[in-house]
Amino acid sequence: MLSRTLLAFAAALPIVSAVAHAEKAHVHGVAELNVDVDKDTLRIALESPLDSLLGFERAPKGDKELDKVRRLASQLRQADKLFVPTPGAGCKLEKIKLESAVLDPVLLGEAPVAAASPAPAPARAPQPGAKPAHAELDAEFVFRCAQPAALQGLEVKLFDAFPGYRQIRAQVLTVKRQSAATLSPKAKALHW
Ligand SMILES: [Zn+2]
Repeated sequence: MLSRTLLAFAAALPIVSAVAHAEKAHVHGVAELNVDVDKDTLRIALESPLDSLLGFERAPKGDKELDKVRRLASQLRQADKLFVPTPGAGCKLEKIKLESAVLDPVLLGEAPVAAASPAPAPARAPQPGAKPAHAELDAEFVFRCAQPAALQGLEVKLFDAFPGYRQIRAQVLTVKRQSAATLSPKAKALHW
C-alpha cells in the first residue's frame, strides 16, 4: 500500500509542475495519455490538442462544425473501440468524462453547466498580431475489469480514428511500477 502511495506521489509531481496548461508545450499531433491500473480499475486520461481531433481549436461556427463536435463526442464515447485492454481481462467501459474550455459540455454529451458555474469561455476575438489561441480536450475513461490479473496492456487505436495524431506520449502507473512509452501509428500497444 505504501509503495503505491509513493508511486502515485512520484507520478503526480510532473503534473503539478506543469499545471499551467497555457505554459505547457502544446504540439499539434501529439497527445498525452495517462494510464492508471489499480486492482480492477483501469483509468485512462487523454489530454489532446483539439486541433488533432477536430481540425480547429475554438467554439464551432455553423452546423458543419457543430456536427463535427457531435461526431467527435460520439466517437470518444465509444472508447472501447479506441482503447482495447487485454481481451482476457474482461474490462468493460464504465465511465466517460469529456471536457474542453471552448466547447459546450452539452455538445460533448455532458450535463449542462449549472447556472452558478462559469459558462465555457467564449471564443475570444483574436488581438491583432496575437498568436492564435490553443485549446485542448481532456477526456477520462474508466474501465472495470472482471479478471484484473489478466490485464497486461492496452491497444491504443486513436491513430486509426484520428489521423491527425503523429505521437502519443503515454505514462503507465500500476501497483508495481511506473513506465513511459511513446506510441506512434506503427507502435500502438502499451504493455505492463
Ligand atoms: Zn493548438
